Amino acid sequence: SDWERRVSRSAHRRTDSGLTVFVTGAAGFVGTHVSVALKRRGDGVLGLDNFNHYYDPNLKRARQKLLERAGVFVVEGDLNDLSLLQKLFDVVAFTHVMHLAAQAGVRYAMQNPSSYVHSNIAGLVNLLEVSKSANPQPSIVWASSSSVYGLNSKVPFSEKDRTDQPASLYAATKKAGEEITHTYNHIYGLSITGLRFFTVYGPWGRPDMAYFFFTRDIIKGKVLTIYEAADHGTVARDFTYIDDIVKGCLAALDTAKKSTGTGGKKKRPAQFRIFNLGNTAPVPVTELVSILEKLLKVKAKRLVLPMPRNGDVKFTHANISLAQRELGYRPTTDLETGLKKFVRWYLNYYPGEKKKISSW
Ligand code: NAD
Repeated sequence: SDWERRVSRSAHRRTDSGLTVFVTGAAGFVGTHVSVALKRRGDGVLGLDNFNHYYDPNLKRARQKLLERAGVFVVEGDLNDLSLLQKLFDVVAFTHVMHLAAQAGVRYAMQNPSSYVHSNIAGLVNLLEVSKSANPQPSIVWASSSSVYGLNSKVPFSEKDRTDQPASLYAATKKAGEEITHTYNHIYGLSITGLRFFTVYGPWGRPDMAYFFFTRDIIKGKVLTIYEAADHGTVARDFTYIDDIVKGCLAALDTAKKSTGTGGKKKRPAQFRIFNLGNTAPVPVTELVSILEKLLKVKAKRLVLPMPRNGDVKFTHANISLAQRELGYRPTTDLETGLKKFVRWYLNYYPGEKKKISSW
């Protein structure tokens, strides 16, 4: 059928040594960039996304066009659709799964707790079930989050630090994901790599994230609410540019060992890894606003309020020495350079916005 032809063409790799990757959340921010990068270097890629309306679905459709131009087909469906996943794994022998689909965002969980359980817990288990029974068993690389460090106040965060005090339901489901993937590693021999991303930003980014809606609101002349920690300490994020994250994802896929499966006599244990992927250069949110003001040449209207208890943590900062050593991960983009690229994309994607900036 036409559908099967599109699936096979997208999943076709240019060389025998190339990977065949199932990318979940492919129409998402990170998923789009990772899928295009894999396809460009010759790997086979098949995407899955449910195109949910958590944020502007038109942006996901625009990313889908970009993916189609790069030769990546995105199947529209949900992680929880077991028969769909089964069918895809029957048609394509995936060597790797890059699992990026999730309900993201920490504050939204207060209104929509079940969407986090649905995608981040049930959906993950479903994907692992299909993967463990597949032949070959793929190696799994998936997105955890820096939010697992929760109320840990020791910075920079290193992989060995405690993660038992999540500050949001989102964080709790990511932490649960680390434990759930461990059980599938232990029982079924699935090769697992969890990547704890730190505040990823860049072109085609997410409208629910501060750098994105601050840009929009500065242009609109709307007041920005900037939270200040209760102890007046700095609220800061280890903003990490998308191209650096993509390099980390590809390195994780390339260094993933094969899954070892079950059956027969006890084999060597399958690989289980967790890495921080951050920038190791936290920037105060007030400084983020100043950089945007400079790039947009518009003064922001700032309203500083005490940070509510809404799931956000005060400070994030990654120790990346493990990823540096094992993955050769070395972020190279500072916040101003990365934001310059984001702003250029933003004004190009929303051409109407440029006209609103009277000072230009
Ligand atoms: P995103 O929301 O842009 O991408 C996720 C995609 O998954 C979306 O397109 C969504 O439609 C899809 N999706 C959600 N639930 C699904 C389901 N049940 N079935 C099929 N598709 C589903 O988010 P992103 O920023 O690209 O994040 C990618 C991954 O990285 C997520 O797992 C996220 O939790 C994690 N992460 C992101 C950041 C960041 O700063 N962007 C930080 C830490 C962790």
